[in-house]
Amino acid sequence: MRSVVVVGGGVMGSAAAWALTAAGAEVTLLEQFEPGHDKGSSHGSSRIFRLAYDDPFYVDLAARSLPLWRRLEEESGQELLALTGAVDHGTAERIEAIGAALRGAGHPCAFLDPDAAAERWPGMRFDERVLFHPDAGRVHADRATAAFQAVAAAGGAQVRHAVRVERIVTGRAGQPEVVTGDGVLAADAVVLAVGGWAPELVGRAVPGLPRLRVTQEQPVHFPAADPLAWPSFLHHRANVYGLGSVDGVKVGLHGAGPVVDPERRDRRVDPEALRQLTDYARTWLPGVDAAGASATTCLYTTTPDHGFVVDRHGAVTVLAGFSGHGFKFAPLLGVLAADLVAGSPGPVRFALGPR
Ligand SMILES: Cc1cc2nc3c(=O)[nH]c(=O)nc-3n(C[C@H](O)[C@H](O)[C@H](O)COP(=O)(O)OP(=O)(O)OC[C@H]3O[C@@H](n4cnc5c(N)ncnc54)[C@H](O)[C@@H]3O)c2cc1C
Repeated sequence: MRSVVVVGGGVMGSAAAWALTAAGAEVTLLEQFEPGHDKGSSHGSSRIFRLAYDDPFYVDLAARSLPLWRRLEEESGQELLALTGAVDHGTAERIEAIGAALRGAGHPCAFLDPDAAAERWPGMRFDERVLFHPDAGRVHADRATAAFQAVAAAGGAQVRHAVRVERIVTGRAGQPEVVTGDGVLAADAVVLAVGGWAPELVGRAVPGLPRLRVTQEQPVHFPAADPLAWPSFLHHRANVYGLGSVDGVKVGLHGAGPVVDPERRDRRVDPEALRQLTDYARTWLPGVDAAGASATTCLYTTTPDHGFVVDRHGAVTVLAGFSGHGFKFAPLLGVLAADLVAGSPGPVRFALGPR
């Protein structure tokens, strides 16, 4: 049995620990903060799940992720993924391209005119053609990360919080060693899934990490009647995404936040960003209480091509750069990480190296 240390207990490291444990590895997961912390990218009650991308490659990844979410639900005994459908509107060419990619892969979808869409989703306003696809909705983010960890732990993984990894070094026998504040752990392989901390820790451990831009994003929850019935939505012309959740209707600007250092950010919400989202809600979301915004912060770690880094260098596997859209793919990325550790190649698109 191979011993693997996974560094980072966000959704990606937790998914990797889950998949590696299922594959028979002896896994130790190390996370610097407490369970359920809100300092990285994976916290909160909701993330969009959708098949809809204009690139068939991502449509395929999302479709392969869906049954793995269902597997995690079965193994953990928890509901994690609710399919309420997704609505895309704005920018006709984009909507056409997404529809073509969905249809090309055989996934159901339908175009609606703005009036028909407003009748179906009275909480939203539309002024252009709308694309709907049913195999979409929300993942409960906190529960999903905890479920990956719980199932991994039930399978024998050691899940350790409040352990900060200082660096990765090569031991005398050539195997990787993980240096923590408490000591050194040797392993056959290491998986680094450290979110916004990747430029520092991963950049020192492997060559070829693409340039990563770490930003503080500031989504807002608005009160609404029956938010759990809302579809997830992307308004392409406004660069806005949203979805219903137990906390209300969440709305955010995609990748519009300031560059930050995860170690030093003050986590204060920019009043201008809050004002923009409130104005957006007043104009486009008649079904929410635009005066009741409650904002939070979260990190994006974005690569130059908005694609991910899922690759291995020697005994070190890297999961990084999820560019604000990685959560939906987490169980599949965990499986790909386990495959990389076992020696299989990763997706060429996600290789280390310049982008
Ligand atoms: C506002 C917002 C909305 C989003 N919406 C969506 C969406 O709707 N759909 C979607 O698919 N994706 C979405 N995403 C993206 C998705 O949430 C992220 O891609 C995903 O959570 C990244 O997870 P991660 O595990 O890579 O990072 P993180 O969750 O940040 O996990 C990394 C972990 O590593 C730990 N760590 C770092 N350094 C060390 C160290 N030295 N030692 C030990 N531990 C360490 C950190 O503490 C952290 O817990 C959104 C992201 C944000 C911020």
